[in-house]
Amino acid sequence: MTDFPTIAVYVSLGSNIGDTEDNLNQAVARLEKYEGIDPEVWSETYETEPQGLKDQAWFSNQVVRFAVDPELWSAEGFLSTLQAVEGQMDRVRGVKNGPRTIDLDIILFGDRVIESGEYLTVPHPRALERAFVLYPLAEIAPDLVFPDGTTVAEALKKINFRIDGSKIYQD
Ligand code: ADP
Ligand code: MG
Repeated sequence: MTDFPTIAVYVSLGSNIGDTEDNLNQAVARLEKYEGIDPEVWSETYETEPQGLKDQAWFSNQVVRFAVDPELWSAEGFLSTLQAVEGQMDRVRGVKNGPRTIDLDIILFGDRVIESGEYLTVPHPRALERAFVLYPLAEIAPDLVFPDGTTVAEALKKINFRIDGSKIYQD
């Protein structure tokens, strides 16, 4: 039990190199080691069609809700830790939307709205277009409302995608 109010932080995890499910689990395990970052709710893992760059393996994607201590973590500090974990897991940056061992994106940081130039935009600017974010998000937080008032259900209705078991198809 924590005795301070925590912030609900939703992180989108993706991987399409190596043992992709293990990479997602390992990223959460690494984050859990930091004080003030506690994973609370996990979505299922989905296999998703790559977007943009088609000629690459399908992704495993998941959304995890973390309870984050706002006295220890700013959103910028939290992002730098996500990037540190990506680095520990041999993430090589390069091709946009290209293959990666692990991609960790902040979807929501409580109800904060953040525009720190290129470095950090919250809510994640492309979250509302991506079935691989919205579908697992709706699974673990069906009543979620984005800071602009859009519900996760409304956002899902606006995009084209198809679900087949745990597969998510979206062009
Ligand atoms: P992708 O867009 O495929 O996730 P990267 O993981 O390489 O690509 O991220 C590109 C940049 O996006 C990072 O340098 C990071 O500073 C920036 N960024 C802006 N907002 C966010 C966010 N909400 N979560 C994660 N990264 C973000
Ligand atoms: Mg990223």
